[in-house]
Amino acid sequence: METGIKYHIWQYCGHCGCQPAIGDCFECQTCSLGPQRYLCGRCMKLYERDEIHHPAKESFHPIAGLHQFKPLIPESRQFTDDWTAIPLPDVQKPQLPRISLIRPEFSSPHGGCIAGYGFVVRLNNLSIMLTALHVLDPIIKTNNVDCSIKNINHTGDELPALMLKVNLYDVLETRWVLHLVATCHSMLSLRHARIDVPEPDASADIAAFEVNDKPVLNPLNLAKNLPQKGDAVWLHVKKEDCGNLISAVVVECTEQTLIFRFAEINGTEPKYTSGAPLVDRSGKVVGINIGAGRYAGQRFGHANHVANIRRHLESTNSISFRSSAY
Ligand SMILES: [Zn+2]
Ligand SMILES: [Zn+2]
Repeated sequence: METGIKYHIWQYCGHCGCQPAIGDCFECQTCSLGPQRYLCGRCMKLYERDEIHHPAKESFHPIAGLHQFKPLIPESRQFTDDWTAIPLPDVQKPQLPRISLIRPEFSSPHGGCIAGYGFVVRLNNLSIMLTALHVLDPIIKTNNVDCSIKNINHTGDELPALMLKVNLYDVLETRWVLHLVATCHSMLSLRHARIDVPEPDASADIAAFEVNDKPVLNPLNLAKNLPQKGDAVWLHVKKEDCGNLISAVVVECTEQTLIFRFAEINGTEPKYTSGAPLVDRSGKVVGINIGAGRYAGQRFGHANHVANIRRHLESTNSISFRSSAY
């Protein structure tokens, strides 16, 4: 990476779509967390002159009015050539059971939201649905919950106490909304789960729910060990022309994050993939997909890896939904 140039690898401009955002980059404080909340320096000037529309019209949860932005600190880490040079291993993709990938829908007293993806794992005889915490941001905002790293009083009980209902749909069906496959009855209180941590640190971005057991759902297993640099991994999302598994290779695995580079993708790139499982060659889960980036013409992703998932799940209470509301 050239020095002196500001790169924002994990951000793309929600207006002109440039990625990485080079130079200044601004993060909207009003929009819900999501890839479209950034503006590059050029588009920010246009927004200030009222010459472009923000939030983008196709936003999931657009909020009206004037939006507040803050400048973003560019990526300061030094990346190695490994990021683009590690070869994609020639390994056969795993066979995953049908139905293991789901789309969760959350309801709270002040509105609901739909996440990109979630998946179910079997752990200590419980079926647990995992997704990214940031996909719940519309609910977090409308219910005034502060689960940012700044809030030292956050206990992890706040969101579970608000949750009314979680529906899980078979996302691989064309009209997935007609294919409800399970519901959840409680959310796990994860004391250290947080949003607003600068990317690519993904270690706090997790939400977990206990599933009402349904035989139609096929849980995945968590991998025992962290993947290593150079290992093959696959992102399991809805993309039929590649068997719903996008090939990737691990380029970095640290305590905070698991970074992988995607193989070239034919056709349209899947959007809103947060919460999808990243699996290894045996189909075991090595991470929860959190964010996407671009550098040197290649696509990257980062995930909350399995060691951190286990750490979050180890000491937790589950809090039942206030189902009396229904
Ligand atoms: Zn732009
Ligand atoms: Zn905004």
